[in-house]
Amino acid sequence: MMLIHCPYCEEKRPEIEFAYAGEAHIHRPVKDADDMTDEEWSHFMFLRDNKRGDHAERWWHANGCNMFFNAVRNTVTDKFLVTYKMGELPPKASASNAKLPAAKKTGGAK
Ligand SMILES: [Zn+2]
Repeated sequence: MMLIHCPYCEEKRPEIEFAYAGEAHIHRPVKDADDMTDEEWSHFMFLRDNKRGDHAERWWHANGCNMFFNAVRNTVTDKFLVTYKMGELPPKASASNAKLPAAKKTGGAK
C-alpha cells in the first residue's frame, strides 16, 4: 500500500484515506462569467492538463483531517515528489528536476 504524506497531519497515511481532487493551481478567471466568451468559460471549467510526468495536483485527506492540499506526483511512476499546504507555492523542483507548472490564468483582462 502506498503512503501519502499529509502536510497538515505531518505524517504519512495510507492512500485509501485520500481522494484525488483535480489539477492544482487553477485560478478563477478575473472577468465575471457574464463577460467571458463561451470558449473562455469552457476552457476554465473543463480543460485540464493531462501531463505525462511530474504534475501538480490537489488532494483531499477525506478520511483523515479532511483538509485539501497540493502535491506533485509523477504520473508515470505514481510517486509523490512533494506535498504542500493550500495557498503555498510549489516548492522548487525536487532532485528529479521536476518542472513545476506555472499557475494557469484564464479569462484575464486584456
Ligand atoms: Zn491530514
